[in-house]
Amino acid sequence: MPEPDDKPSLLGPAAGFGVTFKAMFKKRLTEQYPEQKKPTAPRFHGRHQLNRHPDGLEKCVGCELCAWACPADAIYVEGADNTEEERYSPGERYGAVYQINYARCILCGLCIEACPTRALTMTNEYELADSSRADLIFTKEQLLSGLTEGMVEAPHAMYPGADEGAYYRGEVTQAAPGTERQEPTARRHDEEVGS
Ligand code: SF4
Ligand code: SF4
Repeated sequence: MPEPDDKPSLLGPAAGFGVTFKAMFKKRLTEQYPEQKKPTAPRFHGRHQLNRHPDGLEKCVGCELCAWACPADAIYVEGADNTEEERYSPGERYGAVYQINYARCILCGLCIEACPTRALTMTNEYELADSSRADLIFTKEQLLSGLTEGMVEAPHAMYPGADEGAYYRGEVTQAAPGTERQEPTARRHDEEVGS
């Protein structure tokens, strides 16, 4: 069997520098983050959002399907009953406590696929780093979308004459004239519950 040729090649170092020289003329990939932020792809999986109906009632019905679908055990939900005096969503139940732990979440999107009411979606926001684990647990108040025109903050009564189905068929397009926020009395214990 022939001996391997172990004589040093004179071209070896030149070939090594060749790699360096080639890289010098390539387009630079340095990103000036956070001064310059690159836009994400439209369907990028970022921070979650809890959505509302067009009159301001919440879409979440507290069913916990998102929590069961999550492979990282990052979601904690406690559902509660709506009453006519204190209504947060058009149906029977609403999400009283809702938390997502971003120290666990891998932004896979399985939770939004599992949600039957499209209450849970994902935004393009990706700046979720923090130095405290407690601050990485986002509460319902942080995840709930803001109010837009035509909405009244929950709790409040359903649109007169509309049932739950009318909301899901998109027949309610804004709060009825004169809709007023009800006095919230439900126990809000996001702060007390750890995820
Ligand atoms: S995106 Fe994935 S990991 Fe994050 S909460 Fe949803 S299911 Fe869990
Ligand atoms: S976000 Fe959707 S899946 Fe999760 S508890 Fe609310 S309604 Fe159910």
